[in-house]
Order: sequence, then C-alpha cells, then structure tokens
Amino acid sequence: MDMLTLSHVAKRFGEKQVLRDVTFSVPEHTVFGFVGKNGAGKTTAMKLILGLLASDGGEISVNGMKVHYGNTPTNRFVGYLPDVPEFYSCMTPFEYLRFCGEISGMSSKEIKARSEELLCLVGLEKENRRIRGFSRGMKQRLGVAQALFGRPGLLICDEPTSALDPAGRRELLDILSAAKEQTTVLFSTHILSDVEHICDEAAFLHEGEIVLKGTIEEMRTYRKAAGMEMELEQVEDGQLLLAAFPCLKSTGKRNFLLEDTGRLPEILHFLADRNISVLRIERQESSLEELFMEVVGK
Ligand code: ADP
Repeated sequence: MDMLTLSHVAKRFGEKQVLRDVTFSVPEHTVFGFVGKNGAGKTTAMKLILGLLASDGGEISVNGMKVHYGNTPTNRFVGYLPDVPEFYSCMTPFEYLRFCGEISGMSSKEIKARSEELLCLVGLEKENRRIRGFSRGMKQRLGVAQALFGRPGLLICDEPTSALDPAGRRELLDILSAAKEQTTVLFSTHILSDVEHICDEAAFLHEGEIVLKGTIEEMRTYRKAAGMEMELEQVEDGQLLLAAFPCLKSTGKRNFLLEDTGRLPEILHFLADRNISVLRIERQESSLEELFMEVVGK
C-alpha cells in the first residue's frame, strides 16, 4: 500500500507557479528521496502534505485519507522533522522526550519505554547533557526521535542532512534507514549521494514537475555509463601506464580516468605484473547536476 500519494498537485505564490503538476506515491516502509535544487519547491510540497498550505489543484492523501488545508486529521499519521529543529535547550534528551510524551497524554510507563527505545535508535541513550551543548547532528538525531515518538506511519524530514558534516550526515542517514522498520520515510535533499546511500525510491522535482521517479535501480539506467577513477602512488608509474594505455585520460599527475571500463582487467594485470602501487580505484560518481542535465536535457 502507498503511505503517501500526490496527484497532479499545483501551487502558486502570486505570479510564481512553484508546483505545476506533481504526481508521485511513496510505498509503505520505504525510504523515499524527494530530490530537487534549492528553491525547486520541496518545502512547499511538504507544507501541502502537512496541510499547512492550501494547494491550487490536485489531491494529496496520507494513509489513504485525503489531506485538508488547516487542521488536517491526516497529521495524526505524520511525524515531521524541520531542517533546523528547535528544542527547549535547558532539557536533557530524556527530559525533552518525556515532555513530548506528557503533552500527548501517554502514561509515564509508556513514555519511559518509548523514550529509551528511541534514544537507542538515534544513539543518544547515554547522553545526559543539556541540549544547548549539542552539535547540529545530535539535534537532528533528537529531532528524529521526537518526530517518531507518536509512532507515525509517515516521517517527513526536510533537508535533514544539508547542514551536517560528513560523519553527522552518515549517522543520520543510517538512522533514517533503520527507522523504515517502524515507519515510512520521505526526506528532501539536493545531495544525490544521500539518495543513493539509503533510498529505495526517489522522485526528482524540477520546474514544478516530477521529471524522474522510480526505484534507485531504475534511476541508474538513466545514468550515462560511469567511468573508473584511479590514483597511483608514484608519478613515474603514471607515465608508464599512460604510455601503455593511451585510452586513459590524465586528470592529474597520478590520477586517471578510464571511460571504457571493459579494459579494466587488462589494466589491473599490467599494474600487478609491474608491482605498481595503486592508492585508489573507484567508480566515478555522477553529480546530481549531471544526472539532472541528463534528465532535463532530453
Ligand atoms: P525548496 O524547499 O526546494 O528549496 P521552497 O519550497 O522553499 O523550495 O521554495 C520554492 C519557491 O517558492 C522559491 O522560489 C520560494 O522563494 C518560493 N516561496 C516559498 N514559500 C513562499 C511564500 N510563502 N511566498 C512566496 N514565495 C514562496
């Protein structure tokens, strides 16, 4: 079953048509990437899903129920993590979650069990400091715990990783990936590698429309054949390699790009036979920009 469906959704601010015709569905228990450049309209779409904005057309449903602008009952299925979550900073994480539980009317036994479970999920179970001393990454992780507190069927995260350093990003992505056991995750991002890392499916928003959607495997078929990047230890070895394989493109004194990846075994034999030290061989990643160009340039 689909946890979220947007069907021909449109939204304009004055003269500016931000969303023209947005249609996609998010299946239950998946991590779904909502991809677009800054200003593409991702936050606007999320606000429509939360009933915080009125749409100019189309329909949105959460868990099979239609979303209405205003106090929409569908929000009881939704947990939301804004891009910069705010907390009462004088509290510890446990105190904060207890407070969230108390205002939602849960029993103290239930609050304690749920808080412990969620603090473990986000790796803050041993953290007794006040929130004011937390890093951005720790605040985002606590925000995920808070958003999951009421066991929502859908967790919506707005650009959860964009302000984090690589380690913080990785931790948060792993937590979102683990969260799909208990919920469905929709997260917006402009970082393609985050999508490739944890998403089952994704949709690309561009100029108010979804220009590409599907499973990550399906998306890869849209990508142009990626090359291999190699880095050798010694500059002299690089010269030797280039002389033997003119098909390699030199991208630095010790760095090369192989576009015809079918020749990789031959090159590896050559390197091994001569005991040439290789620092790195990796598949060249297309940037989000490149993928966009392939899709929107058609
Ligand atoms: P994203 O989340 O993809 O960065 P947004 O949804 O925040 O994009 O914004 C999409 C466009 O809509 C931007 O050009 C933004 O300036 C405009 N916009 C967003 N909210 C409003 C508003 N309340 N009034 C007028 N324009 C808005």
